[in-house]
Amino acid sequence: MLKRVLIGLGAIFMVVVLIAGIILFRTFTFGGNVEVQTVELADVPDFNGEEIAKRLSTAIQIRTQTVSAGDPRPGQEGPWLEFREFMTSSYPELFNTAETNLIDDHTVLVRWAGRDETLDPILMMAHQDVVPVNMGTMDDWDASPFSGAIQDGYVYGRGTMDDKGSLVTILEAANALVASGYQPTRTIWMLFGHDEEVSGSGAQSAVDYFERENIRMEMVLDEGFFVIDPFPLTGSAVALIGIAEKGYVTIRVTARAAGGHSSIPPRNSAGVQLAKAILALDENQVEADFTKPPISQMLSAVAEDMPFTQRMAFANLWLFRGMVGGEFAKSGEANAIIRTTTAPTMMAGAVKENVLPQQATALINFRLHPNDSIESVLQHVRDVTSEIDGVTSDIAEASGIGSEASPVSPTSNRAYAVLASVAREASGGAPVAPALVLGATDSRWTTEISDSIYRFVPTVIPSSDVGGMHGTNERISIENLERMARGYAQIMVGMSSE
Ligand SMILES: [Zn+2]
Repeated sequence: MLKRVLIGLGAIFMVVVLIAGIILFRTFTFGGNVEVQTVELADVPDFNGEEIAKRLSTAIQIRTQTVSAGDPRPGQEGPWLEFREFMTSSYPELFNTAETNLIDDHTVLVRWAGRDETLDPILMMAHQDVVPVNMGTMDDWDASPFSGAIQDGYVYGRGTMDDKGSLVTILEAANALVASGYQPTRTIWMLFGHDEEVSGSGAQSAVDYFERENIRMEMVLDEGFFVIDPFPLTGSAVALIGIAEKGYVTIRVTARAAGGHSSIPPRNSAGVQLAKAILALDENQVEADFTKPPISQMLSAVAEDMPFTQRMAFANLWLFRGMVGGEFAKSGEANAIIRTTTAPTMMAGAVKENVLPQQATALINFRLHPNDSIESVLQHVRDVTSEIDGVTSDIAEASGIGSEASPVSPTSNRAYAVLASVAREASGGAPVAPALVLGATDSRWTTEISDSIYRFVPTVIPSSDVGGMHGTNERISIENLERMARGYAQIMVGMSSE
């Protein structure tokens, strides 16, 4: 008997040792195989952050603010005209050399011709417009949001990060290169949309133009990510290069029931059924998946810098998937990275408080992870609510920008190697990780003209400053402006050298 118990314990012990061995082996080898290709970066002109700050300050003072699709309205084009005048007069070397075209009146398309017309060009993007400042938050700013104040080593104001900082430093880079006598081998296009924050129609029209002209891009670079310091998963700086962005769809959930007077309500009236459906969708989120790019690549890239327990969990998702998923789901941002998010936004029912609605509706806004499609999310909603009587779902023709998630761009090409090298230099050697952009950028229109679309700004942003984008105290440091101009110049030269 005792012998049998001992043999049994021995067997259990062996299994435990084996599992522990597998866990540890996977932990220590996790991410070790990630090798980011790098290139040698060329010399570029020196940039003076103080001078760039002055020009950015001027750009911030021009209120190219968009509120709804179709802006600027007739009679309100003044700021866009002024902004164009600012660009051409501030960067004369570039604008005297390159061709400029206007698309949809206000989107600016610049073509700096390369020496070799047989090579596919590259496209550098940024947008001219900015979001408004929320009513009642004006006084929370350390400097007035349209003052362009330069103080404590920062330029303050709406658009400093999103996205005039990029626009100005792309122009700084190109202008300095032209002034130094440089001409790219590959043609460089610059696209400055006028309405990214409301519809992106300008960038869309510009991409239509490229399609008509049969122009394909070797690389597209737009806003989206940067070096973030510290990165929540590792506690230190990580350079995030966006290789995909989420899609967008709004689904209308409708509950129908007999209406009538609210003095004799039945159980399960339309409002109640709708509430059940919303609750079911909240409790049954779209499945997360850590095993596919870009999330799988991001986790491997930062693995070596993770604390041991986190690294162990991510390396052994076969065992810890539920726990990791639960941890991610606790934070809104982390949850948004790993899955298609579910956000009930608008709800409607009866027109009067003593009338039972025959129909109650909710609009649910989903941000699509590359693993999901508009069709699969609609199916998910129907599956989850199939047991609730009277409930149907369809795609809402809302004003929003319905679009599938973008394709995932490669990390094995020269474009990624150049961006990774620039990111590494700009950050003083931080690990570089591919990432998923959660919002929509103008680059979403470019999937028909390029396979290599990246969303990265060569700048180091403290995590405490990230909230300034679309929020209060948006600002960019003078040190970062110098980094950005240098980084963009390195990218232009690095991509044009072959
Ligand atoms: Zn933006």
